[in-house]
Amino acid sequence: MEKIKNYINGEMINPISNTYIDNYNPSTGEVYSLIPDSNEEDVDLAVKSAQAAFPTWSKTSKEKRSIILQKLATLIEDNLDRFAEAESKDNGKPLKLSKTVDIPRAAANFNFYATGVLHYASEAHAMEDMAINYTLREPIGVCGCISPWNLPLYLFSWKIAPALAIGNTVVAKPSEVTPYTAYLLSELCIEAGLPKGVLNIVHGLGHKVGAAITKHPDVPVISFTGGTITGSEIARTAAPMFKKLSLELGGKNPNIIFDDCDFDKALKTTIHSSFANQGQICLCGSRIFVQRGIYEKFKTAFVEKVERLKVGNPFDEDSNLGAVVSQSHMEKVLSYVTLAEEEGGTVLTGGNQVHLDGDQKNGYYIAPTIIEGLSFDCRTNQEEIFGPVVTIMPFDTEEEVLMMANSTKYGLAATVWTQDVTKAHNVAAKLHAGIVWVNCWLLRDLRTPFGGVKNSGVGREGGFNAFEFFTEPKNVCIKL
Ligand code: NAD
Repeated sequence: MEKIKNYINGEMINPISNTYIDNYNPSTGEVYSLIPDSNEEDVDLAVKSAQAAFPTWSKTSKEKRSIILQKLATLIEDNLDRFAEAESKDNGKPLKLSKTVDIPRAAANFNFYATGVLHYASEAHAMEDMAINYTLREPIGVCGCISPWNLPLYLFSWKIAPALAIGNTVVAKPSEVTPYTAYLLSELCIEAGLPKGVLNIVHGLGHKVGAAITKHPDVPVISFTGGTITGSEIARTAAPMFKKLSLELGGKNPNIIFDDCDFDKALKTTIHSSFANQGQICLCGSRIFVQRGIYEKFKTAFVEKVERLKVGNPFDEDSNLGAVVSQSHMEKVLSYVTLAEEEGGTVLTGGNQVHLDGDQKNGYYIAPTIIEGLSFDCRTNQEEIFGPVVTIMPFDTEEEVLMMANSTKYGLAATVWTQDVTKAHNVAAKLHAGIVWVNCWLLRDLRTPFGGVKNSGVGREGGFNAFEFFTEPKNVCIKL
C-alpha cells in the first residue's frame, strides 16, 4: 500500500519511528494509503531545517520568492486533474467541486500572495517638522501552520502562501484525515525549486504532531484552522509562551431570509449554502430563519428541491453530495438528528445514512436533512454539527431574528436576504459575525479580512491582514 511521506529539508522521507496510520477513502470506506505517524522527533527535525533555511529565505528578494511561489501555483494548475481526483478520493467531496473550487483556489492562494507581496508597503508617520517614523515589517522566523480536513489543500495553502511570500519558513501539518494533496504538494515544491527547508510538511495525529508544533520553543507563530475545542487547547499552550496566534475556528452560521427577498435567488443559494461540500464548510449556513410571510412557501420549495439532490459517488458527474469525511464524523452528524428529534424537532427530509451499491456500499453518505420545529436555543441550534443538516425557523421582526441569530457562542459568518438596502445595512451592522453576505454566499475576494468573532476565532486572515500576522512591526523614529 502506498506510504505518504513527510517533506523535511527538501526531501520526501519516512517518519523516524517508521510507523503509519490508515488513510481511508470515505466514499468506499476502504483504507487506500498509509500516513506517517510522526512524533516530536520529526517535528524537531522539521523545525531545525526551517530554522536553517530562514536567514537565506528571509533575505531572498521578494521578487525571487514571488517567482518561485508563482511557479508552484502554475504547477498546481498544470496538475489540476490529478490533484482534484486525489482530493475527492481523500475527502469524499464531489470531483466537480475539487476541480472547480478546491484545487483552483489553492493555486489562486499561492498566486495571490506571491504577487501581493510585491505590492505590500509598510506605514510612515511624519510628525510635522520634528521627526519621521517608519515601520519595518520583518518576517518572524519559523511559522507553524495547522489545517483541517474540510477544504484540505485550499486551507493549507491559505496559510502557507502568505507566510512564505513574506519571508518566513514554515512547518506545516495537514489534517491526518485528508493528508494526500499536501503530500502531492511536496513533490511540486521540489519541482518549483523551493529551497530546502523553506517549507516542511509533517504528517500525523493532532495530539502528537500538532501539539509538538504548538509547544516547540523555536516556533514563535501558530496559525491554526480547525475546531473551537482544539483552538482553545492550542491557545492554552501558546499563550504562556507569548506566541503570535491566529485561530480560525468553528461556526453556527445564520441565514436570515426576509419577506422582501428575491425568492428564487434566496432559495437557490440557500440550497448551496446548506449542502455544498456535504455541509462541511465552516461558512455554511446551518440555521435558516425565514420571515413568517414567506415561511410556508419557502419551506415547501426548499424541501422539494433538496429532495431532488443526488447523494452519490463523488466521481459521478451528477452527484450533488458526496460522502462525509469519516465514519466517526458520519456518526456524530447523525447523532445530532437523533438529538433534534429528542428536542422536539421534525425531520422534513433526510435524517438518515444513505446506502449506495457496489464499491460505495461501505461509504459514509448522509441524506441532506432539514429539521423544523426547534427552539432557537436548543442544543441542535447552538452546537456546530458540520454536516448536511440544517434547521429552519420562522421569525416576525428584525429585532427577534437578530436576537436568535446572535444567541450562539459562535460568530463566523451570516447571510442576509432582503431587497431593502437600509435593512441590509442595519442587520449586517448588528450581527455578531466576522463576515456578512447580503444576497449572496461565499462570494470571496481574497483581499478582504477573513475570520470570526466570539468562539469562532481570534485574528484575521486574508489580504494584507495575513502579512501583518506573519510579520513583526518595528517602528523606527528619526528626529529631524
Ligand atoms: P480539528 O480541530 O479536529 O483539527 C484541525 C487540525 O488540528 C488537524 O490538523 C488536527 O490534526 C490538528 N489538531 C488536533 N488536535 C490538536 C492539538 N491538540 N494540537 C494541535 N493540533 C491539533 O478540526 P477538524 O475536525 O479537522 O475541522 C473541522 C473544524 O474546523 C470545524 O469546527 C470547522 O468549523 C472548523 N473550520 C474553521 C474554519 C474557519 O476558517 N474558521 C475553516 C474550516 C474549518
